[in-house]
Amino acid sequence: MKLLVVEDEPKTGEYLRRGLTEAGFVVDLARDGQDGLHLGMTEHYDLAVLDVMLPGLDGLSILKALRESGSGLPVLFLTARDLVEDRVRGLELGADDYLVKPFAFAELLARIRTLLRRGARQPASGRLRVADLELDLLRHRVSRAGQRIDLTPKEFALLELFVRRVGEVLPRALIASQVWDMNFDSDTNVIDVAVRRLRAKIDDGFDLKLIRTVRGMGYVLDGSAAG
Ligand code: CA
Repeated sequence: MKLLVVEDEPKTGEYLRRGLTEAGFVVDLARDGQDGLHLGMTEHYDLAVLDVMLPGLDGLSILKALRESGSGLPVLFLTARDLVEDRVRGLELGADDYLVKPFAFAELLARIRTLLRRGARQPASGRLRVADLELDLLRHRVSRAGQRIDLTPKEFALLELFVRRVGEVLPRALIASQVWDMNFDSDTNVIDVAVRRLRAKIDDGFDLKLIRTVRGMGYVLDGSAAG
């Protein structure tokens, strides 16, 4: 699998190149927007990681040019600021996912692998689907079998994590760090309570139960499970 990384900060670029190479990818690193776009247009890649803030041509302009040329290259962009406008614009332009800097390398790797597993880009980007469940990342809306489900922001974040890691058993400690930004404290049952509430909203009334408890390990969202 060959990846294009466009990142102007030398340290971050080198860190990404080394980490992704060690993870088994072939990596081309471009340090400015023009080089990045040129490579993206002329070479074959399985996925591109684009920094938004770049000298010359920014990451969103690269993405726009790629999409206008008909390229379906999966794109994950990196934004330094958690600006809603950047996120919305990126997803509207056809990015497949984004990460806010600073991010954990393990998280980037997990997102890249998920996108690669997904294979061909889903035409309506900004949406995640598992079975009949759909998340609209732009509007923070959730529906199941076409029925709108109201979630709190935390519940949405929790569900988004499950959907992005579909099929993976998520330990409580991971959920705590990703959704609550806290270290897991075994005295608190906040995770269990939140998952139970989410599950009631997502699964009650449906034959196919998406969220399951894996005893002693954590929780998993799985669209193919029998119950
Ligand atoms: Ca940058």
